[in-house]
Amino acid sequence: MTLKIHQFPARSDNYGVLIHDTETGMTASIDAPEVSAIKQALDAKGWRLTHILNTHHHQDHTEGNAALKEETGCEIIGPLGEAAKIPALDHQVGEGDMFRLGNFDVQVLETPGHTLGHISYFIPEAKVAFVGDTMFAMGCGRVFEGSHEMMWNSLAKLRALPADTSVYVGHEYTQANAEFALTIEPDNAALKARAAEVDALRGQDKPTLPTTIAKELATNPFVRACEPEVKAALGMPDAADWQVFGEIRTRKDNA
Ligand code: ZN
Ligand code: FE
Repeated sequence: MTLKIHQFPARSDNYGVLIHDTETGMTASIDAPEVSAIKQALDAKGWRLTHILNTHHHQDHTEGNAALKEETGCEIIGPLGEAAKIPALDHQVGEGDMFRLGNFDVQVLETPGHTLGHISYFIPEAKVAFVGDTMFAMGCGRVFEGSHEMMWNSLAKLRALPADTSVYVGHEYTQANAEFALTIEPDNAALKARAAEVDALRGQDKPTLPTTIAKELATNPFVRACEPEVKAALGMPDAADWQVFGEIRTRKDNA
């Protein structure tokens, strides 16, 4: 049983992702950032689109829904909490829901904060998660609709996934995130090494993604807000995890 995954750039800094089950032909687009880029990727792979999985309502994740559905007849699955804001949605899913995609079970995690209804998709058998704009490599989404506490709880949910889970995210923000992360943890050796790796990749115009849960646990200051060394570095040894997260998020917003 093989789930093939193809990541490609879309718009200015989004990623499109196609997943394909070789046995059933199921092909899903994770979000729908740019119709032309997605069609080109489908053509290059020789795959026929059967599903779109939306993570949240923002236009850079949903703008291709209607056109791709009209052209391919694909089914669109997306967050219960944002159904009214997502074009051409067929199925609404929320926390704890599980659905079948080809021969794979997909688990739905609600990960609100960036938007109130944001969801992530986890496919245990393929050890892969699609987290939209909740988590980025060494970063996280801006907290537009929710609270810091809500966003921290969402990151804590992602922290709990198996460490070897591959994580696909919505945007290539990695280099700027690394630079900021070093202001929080200048002495984190894993972070320094990863920042150098990322500079090399971006210097060759290569993607820095997907990431893994293990890499984020070691280098992402937002995901590490519960770690005593991060709390100490911020002079907040006794603060709640979400308050430390909030301080880091506020600094990044103002950076
Ligand atoms: Zn977004
Ligand atoms: Fe986005």
